[in-house]
Amino acid sequence: MQLIDTHGHVNMEAFAADADAVVKRALNEDTFVIIPGTDYKSSKRAIDIANRYQTGVYAAIGAHPTEVYDEPFSYDMFSMLTKFPKTVAIGEIGLDYSWRELDSDIEGKKKIQKEVFYKQLELARRVDLPVIIHCRQAHDDMLPLLTEFRKTHKELIPKDRPWGVLHCFSGDENLAWEYFKLGLIISFTGLITFSQRWDDLIRKVPEDKLMIETDSPFMTPEPHRGKRNEPVLVKFVAERMAEIRGVSVEKVAEFTTANAKRLFKI
Ligand SMILES: [Zn+2]
Repeated sequence: MQLIDTHGHVNMEAFAADADAVVKRALNEDTFVIIPGTDYKSSKRAIDIANRYQTGVYAAIGAHPTEVYDEPFSYDMFSMLTKFPKTVAIGEIGLDYSWRELDSDIEGKKKIQKEVFYKQLELARRVDLPVIIHCRQAHDDMLPLLTEFRKTHKELIPKDRPWGVLHCFSGDENLAWEYFKLGLIISFTGLITFSQRWDDLIRKVPEDKLMIETDSPFMTPEPHRGKRNEPVLVKFVAERMAEIRGVSVEKVAEFTTANAKRLFKI
């Protein structure tokens, strides 16, 4: 049974001491890992880790919406990182309007987030890589922005495969279908092992629109809550998804892995 953790931050400080041991634990269980960057340095580190493995470990590069205020976004520097063969996506990128982010200068910060996000969407289309989208309490701006982007970049959007994923999907059913209409898919974390909020949606989503992830070191699934999360634990997300949909875990592995391979072209 092959699984793909489509979002595991083994490039973060939490894994500074044992990133390779963590990656190997996942690979030993036939679990591939996509490592997303959150700024230039962590994107570079994602590539460095991926480069240490022949196969099964890949990088996404990008500036996370909470990392865009201190230094101006450098299109050229991130553009360079797309040239590495292990770079399979632009991410994670997006909008984050949670209260911690917008404690002051709210409009100014939203504006910067939207500008940097848009530039990275353009970069992704220019180099034909999918996007990994982070959206926290910002769907009201996210949906119109993506709708407009898709309209104005129509000839650059692939028609035969998705062009991005809403990672750690937080919206409701209507919203999910709005994103599907735009050609995007959604992904779930260990959150679904201890919250029933998305069960109904998970039951209804077509097989070709779902992926799984850990978002490690965060979002640790049951029965490991309270400990550091890591990619090998994505199996608990697969198991819970199987339980919700009333199918075998092998079935969930089959379609989520196929979706990840198609999206990231791996
Ligand atoms: Zn993340």
